[in-house]
Amino acid sequence: MTKADILMPYKMLPFVQEQLEKDFTVHRLFDADDPDAVLRAQGAKIKGVALGFGPFGPNQLKHLPNAEIVAGFGVGYDHVDVAACLEAKVTVTHTPNVLNDEVADTAIGLLIMTVRELGQAEQWVRRGEWAAGRPYPLTQATLQGRTLGIFGLGRIGKAIAKRAEAFGLTVHYHGRTKQDEVPYPYHATLTGLAEACDTLMVVAPGGTATHHAVNGQVLKALGPNGVVINVGRGSVIDEAALTKALEDGTIYGAGLDVFEDEPNVPPALLALPRVTVLPHVGSASQATRNAMGQLVVDNLKNWFGTGAPLTPVPEMSGI
Ligand code: NDP
Repeated sequence: MTKADILMPYKMLPFVQEQLEKDFTVHRLFDADDPDAVLRAQGAKIKGVALGFGPFGPNQLKHLPNAEIVAGFGVGYDHVDVAACLEAKVTVTHTPNVLNDEVADTAIGLLIMTVRELGQAEQWVRRGEWAAGRPYPLTQATLQGRTLGIFGLGRIGKAIAKRAEAFGLTVHYHGRTKQDEVPYPYHATLTGLAEACDTLMVVAPGGTATHHAVNGQVLKALGPNGVVINVGRGSVIDEAALTKALEDGTIYGAGLDVFEDEPNVPPALLALPRVTVLPHVGSASQATRNAMGQLVVDNLKNWFGTGAPLTPVPEMSGI
């Protein structure tokens, strides 16, 4: 059987590359001196795309008239122009579920780091302050007694809620739809959620529908004891409004794994004492990334073996 031609626009895990090369002819665009020339010359052969971290849309699609599937790495797919893929009858897949626990662990870790200043306390030891006889100042915030508002109670949001309950937190949530099967109070608006909580966990997807949903009004509603954690997408929070709210005491602190213009973190945000920052590592363990990579491979293998994707993005139900 001839091997289908797969385009790999961006570098992927060696594990994924090796797996794909067993079953497909892989064209590594990121290795090419002139990627556009490769697309022009090879594009018509390409049947599938193994997509790493990077955008995909009409610029690539116009060179790929025979593409059938784009297998994305990651559960979020705001970097893929799904409408353009739908129009071109190209199926898009992503990697849901296999990362839920890892991201939820990161979210809770980031929350505790933020309220108990664990990153700053570690630096205190490393700088020799403790050895010099200076104890770390008492943290003015605590996890205890907090009410956690989850913005995006989906697969990962539910894994966070389960952990939060075990830590003794009260959980509320906001999304577009009330979920009858969950025991947590629902808020039809994000501002309503913020009013009811002092801790906002952002785990909603990026894209135009959620762009800057966490704005000055939401932060004001959260109040002076308010802590914002973002493991969703940077675009969901108005970063300038967040910086201002932290500077003027509208809210207490923030823990951020994702940013509006990654990998750039605004210096004004970094200068603030009650901000904890991580370099988008929500799912970034070897084991979880391998599981995500395996799902990319399995989506492609299943598509070319049976004609069906394993984990299509929801918009594909209409294709
Ligand atoms: P799900 O689709 O399972 O959950 C998303 C939730 O967000 C749903 O409950 C949905 O509820 C809600 N939501 C979606 N759109 C809107 C909207 N416009 N307004 C209000 N609520 C909305 O996704 P996952 O839990 O699997 O993943 C969530 C996100 O986490 C990903 O899209 C990704 O951006 C991010 N992520 C970040 C990682 C990191 O490394 N930091 C790693 C993995 C994921 P409803 O439909 O009722 O509105």
